[in-house]
Order: sequence, then structure tokens, then C-alpha cells
Amino acid sequence: MSETLETLVPSPAPNPLLQAWQTPFETPPFAEIAPEHFLPAFEQAFADHTAEITAISYDPSAPDFANTVTALERAGKLLSKVSAVFHDLVSAHSNPALLEIDKEVSLRMARHWNPIMMNAVLFGRIALLHDNRAMLGLSPEQNRLLERTYTRFHRAGAGLDEAAKSRMAEINERLAHLGTAFSHHLLGDEQEWFLELGEADCDGLSDSFIAAAKAAASERGMAGKAIMTLSRSFVEPFLKTSTRRDLREKVFKAFTARGDNNNDNDNNTAIVEILSLREESAKLLGFPTFAAYRLEDSMAKTPEAVRGLLERVWKPARARALADRDALQGLVAEDGGNFALAPWDWRYYAEKLRQRRANFDDAAIKPYLVLDHMIDAAFDCAHRLFGLSFSERKDVPVWHPDVRVWEVTDGTGQHKALFYGDYFARASKRSGAWMTSLRDQQKLDGAVAPLIINVCNFSKGADGEPSLLSPDDARTLFHEFGHGLHGMLSDVTYPSLSGTSVFTDFVELPSQLYEHWQEQPQVLRQFARHYQTGEPLPDDLLKRFIAARKFNQGFATVEFVSSALIDLEFHTQPASASRDVRAFERNELEKIGMPAEISLRHRPQQFGHIFSGDHYAAGYYSYMWSEVMDADAFGAFEEAGDIFDPAVAKRLYDDIYSSGGSRDPEDAYIAFRGREPEPDALLRRRGLLETPEAA
Ligand SMILES: [Zn+2]
Repeated sequence: MSETLETLVPSPAPNPLLQAWQTPFETPPFAEIAPEHFLPAFEQAFADHTAEITAISYDPSAPDFANTVTALERAGKLLSKVSAVFHDLVSAHSNPALLEIDKEVSLRMARHWNPIMMNAVLFGRIALLHDNRAMLGLSPEQNRLLERTYTRFHRAGAGLDEAAKSRMAEINERLAHLGTAFSHHLLGDEQEWFLELGEADCDGLSDSFIAAAKAAASERGMAGKAIMTLSRSFVEPFLKTSTRRDLREKVFKAFTARGDNNNDNDNNTAIVEILSLREESAKLLGFPTFAAYRLEDSMAKTPEAVRGLLERVWKPARARALADRDALQGLVAEDGGNFALAPWDWRYYAEKLRQRRANFDDAAIKPYLVLDHMIDAAFDCAHRLFGLSFSERKDVPVWHPDVRVWEVTDGTGQHKALFYGDYFARASKRSGAWMTSLRDQQKLDGAVAPLIINVCNFSKGADGEPSLLSPDDARTLFHEFGHGLHGMLSDVTYPSLSGTSVFTDFVELPSQLYEHWQEQPQVLRQFARHYQTGEPLPDDLLKRFIAARKFNQGFATVEFVSSALIDLEFHTQPASASRDVRAFERNELEKIGMPAEISLRHRPQQFGHIFSGDHYAAGYYSYMWSEVMDADAFGAFEEAGDIFDPAVAKRLYDDIYSSGGSRDPEDAYIAFRGREPEPDALLRRRGLLETPEAA
């Protein structure tokens, strides 16, 4: 019956995802795009891409760079276009219809890519070119592209025999299932738990915490009550401020037991199977361990190099944490407490110690960190460093009325990019902050200017007041804008080398480096002005703010590095060693001398970075690897005596922000700095080389 009806309705309007876009800068016409447009557009995109891949694979002419590698770069345009719009909406402005489609799309996506990445005929052409690369007369960027293309196919298993390939496909499918199960279990344990907060349970908690706890209660159908959940945004401030030691213990224990409760959500068996399948796939590909496989394609290159960095940071961080522990124990005694400091006490007493040492709390600086002024500050630094100018455009379609768009021009007035800023939290947006793009820079067939997005979750100001940022928020804004610049300043020929298409342990360099400008007195004095009086940040507050940044870094570093070390051990030791995950965790922590008062930032059963998927498996160290470079890189400006020194800024543009994945990252870094990064810069930035009293 429905079929008969369908034949009677007029032919539907054309799918906007399949049309050329008649908007300013050919941007997506968001108002015209509806959820039902996506699946048909994806089907068309998959079909187009598959036809292109078949044509490249069976091209009767002998393989050459143009008919194989360049042709692959040209293939899949519609798929990139549709995916970019879809993923932006699913993360920044989703709805139940889109989330349902997302499940279907991720399955279809895996089924689309598997046969391409294992296509023996196509890989044969790429491998032939790779073998003869010295004779092809390629430019440095083309050489790099051939290398990356070959590596991508080779590492996916394209060169294996048929039996190994089919086992590989089975393993990948099982790992995809286990990764999803891992995150669902975690979510399950998080959703089941809540703590009702009566009046007597709220001592020490801020008004904004209690307001959020009331909102959480209404959301769960308990209007009029107040509850906290196991979300980090509840747990961290609760442990910092609640005076109720018994409740801190309860919350801490529930938080660190997620995925480890011997219930249906228990992740221990999933971890054992994931590690064993990863080991098997690494061996099929000819590597002794998964870490060796994973790290071959990174800046670090080997597990030994990663361990070297982590151990170098571990020792001074642990020493600092132990000294801080003693100071915190002293505060317990002063408070009249007769107990040994426990993990659920650390944040509470650390906050007291910070008040005492730095005489600073976040609330004092917030009135000076107005969102719009901090955006201006980020733009101004980009102007001084790279000559960029930003002018707001009201005529570019957006996915939500809060999204703002700026046209970005370079020092000669040429159009360079569009920058979309989507700053405010809302129910349709995922938590966290990220940079992404609707279109990447390339110039394979004429210049294509990028469309770059920053998404954050800041609170709006109440009743017409401006939005005020916490110091963490302001830092996040600069971090994501640093990623944004990596996309906007990209100047490469080939799309797959564009902007942020670099190693995981290099990608945080442009973002973490940009954070340094946000905390410079010169920048703060100009842009941190009181939202009511317009007064600049008083010097005394500015000094205390900068000093407070180094506070409790022993704890933060120990939390992070211990997690990174466990990740590395899971993936370097034989999988059989971790059959009992809890015992493995205990032994490893004992080996490194983990202070009993601190726990891992992510216990294994909650370590979604490494078990929900494999992007950060044996790769959690990446943030710190990038931090070694960013701490050292900013030193180049300090040594020049000017945080906007034009000569250093030019090198930064040439070697880091514009080169995307077109160069080996180590060569690019050395070209910028004139030498390898000096690891002590990281320790200095975290204040771990100073005596505890000074920090
Ligand atoms: Zn980042």
C-alpha cells in the first residue's frame, strides 16, 4: 500500500547533499539539509568512490604516480563532502534521527573501506611505484605522499596472503564489536549510579555545583531533589570541595570502580580478549608486539623511546608528588584530622594548599576573562604571528544560531579560510572541545580554501551578561584555535596531507604551543579586562594566576604518566601476562613506585582511550610527546626576546603550521628549532625542576 501511495506523491525535492552549493564560499546550506538526506547521499558517495577505485585498480596503462597515487587523492570527493557535514552535525547538533543514522553509517563505512584497504590489485600498483620511487622524479611532497599511501595500505594488511587477510578481517570485526561493548559497559555503570545529596551532604559545595545537581535530578525524574552522577564534571569538583570525608570516599570508590564491578558491565574479560587479538594482528603483520606495530608509524618509532620519555618525567614528578603529599598530611593534622591521607582526600587538601601558597582561586579571575575578548586575543596573536585578519560574516549558513563565522584573509588580503566558532554548551552537543573541518585545504586542481570549525562547551552569560570563562576554558579556546590554525594555514597540494593529517604524537604541538600565548602577561594585560568596569587585570592577580598554573603538577603528572606507562606495558608484554587485569595493574604500579595516595587517571576498566577503539592504544603518551616539543618550541620566542618575533614566526609558519603532513615531523621540528627538542623544557614548564616551596 505504501508503495502505491509513494507513486502518487510528486517527485521529491533534489537532495541538497548531491547538488552544487550556491552559497557564499560554497559552504553547506545547513537550513536545507535534513536527516533523511544522509543515507541516500552516502549510498551515492560509496557507489561513486567504489567505481573510482575499480577504475584506478584496473587501469590498463602501466601504473604511474598520476594514474594511481594522484588518482586516489582525487577519488571520494562526494564521500568527504557528505561525511564532513554529517560528522559535524552528529557531534555538535544531533537529534535522535541523526544518532540512529550514525549507527548505520559507521557499519556501512567499515564495509566500504575494508575491501578497498585490502584490495590486492590496487596495492600491487602502489607497491610497484613504491619500489621504484627513486626513479620517478617526484617532488618532496609527492615522495611523502607515496610513502604515506604505501604505509597506510601495507599496515592495513593489503600485502598479506589470503588466509591472513581473512583472519585479519575477522579480528578487525571482533575488535570493533569489543570496543563498542567496552564503551557501552562504561556508560552503563555510569548511568546506573547516582548519589542523592541532602542538605547535610552539601557542605563545601558551590552554588553552581548544587544548581547542576538539581538539574541532574530533574533530568532523572526526581525534580526538587539534588543528585550527583559519576561524570567527571561532578566528581572532580566534589572531591575538591566537599567537607564530608565519608562521601568523598564513597564517590571516589564508585568512580574508580566503573567497569570493574563484577556485574554485566564488567570490562575485565573484554580487555583480555582485546589485548590478545591486538597481539595476534601485530604478529600477522610481522611485529613482535602491538606496541611495536603501533609505534612504528609515529614520531616516537619504538616502545623504548616512549618508555625513555615517560621515565624521565616520572622521577621528578613522583618526587614532587611525594613532597606535596607530606605537605597535605600536615594540613590534615592542622585540621585536627587523625588519619593518613587517602586518594579521596588529595584534591580536597590540595585545594587548601593552593589557597595558602598561591592565594588564588579561579573565581577571582573569571570576571576578567570575557569570551569575546578572549576570541579577540586569539585572533590578535594570529595576526601578529602570521598576518591573518578576521572579519565576521553574517551571510554564511550555520547549523545553529549560536554559531559565528569569520572570513580569514592573509597579509596580502587574499582569502585564506572560513572559521566557524561554536562556543556554547547545549543538549544537542557532545561534551568536550574539538576542532574539525567541513572542507580541507588542497591545491591539486586549483586552490581550495578550508572551512575550519572550533566547538567548545562554554556557559552562556545569564540575562544579557557576557559569557565569562574559567582559566581552563580560556586555555581550551586557545588550544582548539591552535588546531584551527593548523587547518587554516595549511599549504599543501594533496588533500590527504592537509593540515592536521599528521602523526598522533605530533598533532597536539600546534594546539598546545598556541596555549602559551594565552598566558603571556603582554596578552593578558591587553585582553583580560573586567566585564563591568573594563579595568585591566591587576598585576598582583596576574602574577598569582601565572604562579597557580604550576600548582599540583606533581599529582597531575603522576596521574597521567602512570596511565601512559600501563598502556605501554599492556601492549609490550605478552597478552598472556595480563589475563588477570587487576593483578597486572597492581604489579605494574608497584614496579614504578606509584604513591598510594594517587590513583591512575584512567584505571584499565575505564580506559576508553585505549580500549574503546585503537586510536590511542599504545599511544596515550602522545600528549606528553607533543608537550616536549611545545614547551621547547615556545623557548625559541623567549630566546628571541619577543613573543611575536617575526623571524621565528616565519619559521613556525613554514615548518609547522603550513606544512601539514607533507614533511617528516622530526625534520620539520628540527628545521624550525635548529635542533631536537630539549626534554627539560617540559619539566620546567610544569615547575618540576623547582623546589616545592617555590611552586
Ligand atoms: Zn588537542
